[in-house]
Amino acid sequence: MARFIFITGGVVSSLGKGLMAASLAALLQARGYRVRIRKFDPYLNVDPGTMSPYQHGEVYVTDDGAETDLDLGHYERFTGVAARQSDNVTSGRIYQQIIQRERRGDYLGATVQVIPHVTDAIKAFALAETDDLDFVLCEIGGTVGDIESLPFIEAIRQLRNDLGRGNSVSIHVTLVPYIAAAGELKTKPTQHSVRELAALGVQPDVLVCRCEQPLPAGERAKIALFCNVPTDAVVPALDAKSIYAVPEQYHQEGLDEAVLNAFGIEPGAKPDLSRWTDITDRLTNPEGEVTVGVVGKYVGLQDAYKSLNEALVHGGIANRVKVNVRWIDAEVFEHPDSDVAQHLEPLHAILVPGAFGERGAEGKIASVKFARERGVPYFGICFGMQMACIEGARNLAGIDKASSTEFGPTEEPVVGIITEWMTAEGVQKREAGGDLGGTMRLGAYEAKLDGNSVVSSIYGGTDISERHRHRYEVNTGYRDALEKGGLVFSGMSPDGMLPEIVERPDHPWFVGVQFHPELKSKPFEPHPLFASFIAAAVKKSRLV
Ligand code: GLN
Repeated sequence: MARFIFITGGVVSSLGKGLMAASLAALLQARGYRVRIRKFDPYLNVDPGTMSPYQHGEVYVTDDGAETDLDLGHYERFTGVAARQSDNVTSGRIYQQIIQRERRGDYLGATVQVIPHVTDAIKAFALAETDDLDFVLCEIGGTVGDIESLPFIEAIRQLRNDLGRGNSVSIHVTLVPYIAAAGELKTKPTQHSVRELAALGVQPDVLVCRCEQPLPAGERAKIALFCNVPTDAVVPALDAKSIYAVPEQYHQEGLDEAVLNAFGIEPGAKPDLSRWTDITDRLTNPEGEVTVGVVGKYVGLQDAYKSLNEALVHGGIANRVKVNVRWIDAEVFEHPDSDVAQHLEPLHAILVPGAFGERGAEGKIASVKFARERGVPYFGICFGMQMACIEGARNLAGIDKASSTEFGPTEEPVVGIITEWMTAEGVQKREAGGDLGGTMRLGAYEAKLDGNSVVSSIYGGTDISERHRHRYEVNTGYRDALEKGGLVFSGMSPDGMLPEIVERPDHPWFVGVQFHPELKSKPFEPHPLFASFIAAAVKKSRLV
């Protein structure tokens, strides 16, 4: 039977609970255990799919097509365990399920209540599909004391009883602030937060204390005394140089041992952390650096492109270089007297990431043109591939009005929803395969690569599976015109009907992909496209 680790946060949000969960899972994995991490989000949206990136950051897409919280990206990057729909649940999804059942009459006239109906649904979610695991880590979003998270804390309280003694551990992540004027670290907020949690019936076993200064032994002992945990179970957590240094740092602070001790498990031999040591060595001792410009829309909002940023770092790990990411607002190129070259000349590579809507599109098209003409490595992801096709159509195929129907009606729909450009037969065939035109194409899909293409040599094969999140597709009616302009369709859906990859073989590095390769990149297994893109940036940096 799997053992459960419940993770809550106190005092303030943004304490890095998700990273802590991911790091702890990685440490347990390094000790030979099988792990899975789940995220409970107390908000009322059914999933983050419709939430603005400004509010919620990136939507992380799983193989099975779920739109989930970005913490699932950390989980997958740190453990290599592919996340699933069943790893993320929100209050909204739980209430939706319960209300549907209630309307169907499934409750046989009973009054439907938070306890037991909502708490039962939360418990069922935590327990589902856990047979083949040693540890299930459940992270509760938000901060203890929030009204929204109460049913989740109550469900944990019940589960801890249901699971029986020794089968669950509660970890509370808190803040120990440093008051400069007093020159002291303060433990009171932690004491209050633990009291709040204990009042709800959940006594933490391990406290992870985020602090900016080392936690002196005296303060550690004080927290242990007041919060009713052993001193060894008070684990200090200082800021790390890189997120990938966090697992080793937590290990040095004794987190994995404290957790195993709390379960009554003898920690045994030291975990093998060589994977993490190698990554931090590559990050701290780079042999060069490159600057990549990301021409996007949600600039200044790192979280909106979380996985992309990490995948670029992974590309740097693969090549032993530091990757400086320069976020450039595509709209700056739309100003009549803006000088594209001035912004893009200092870059060793250019990437246009995924996006929705017209804003910034012309600026992105201008940066594709710059990259193509100047031989700067170009990577177009999803929207970035679509813009590369529009650029090619306008400037090399003489289709001046080339556009995407996402921006409104157009005479030249180089990009459009399949029902707008495919034959009725074609659409029917795809729908029979379960792929509905006009709805969001979500999750993993296979693609076939041309054996002579640049991308097949990068992947080292012709069969791939990557994750998608888009509604529009490049219109194959323009394939001939685009290929005459040098843009080769080198990857297609297995039925040959949808373009998945375009490339320019006559360019140092020019690839557009309809999917999101960044979602599957890991620090210990950098995605081949990112590794190759950064290698091209390194080459470019040696030329300039
Ligand atoms: N807006 C485009 C579409 O829906 C691209 C989406 C994306 O980049 N993820 O097809």
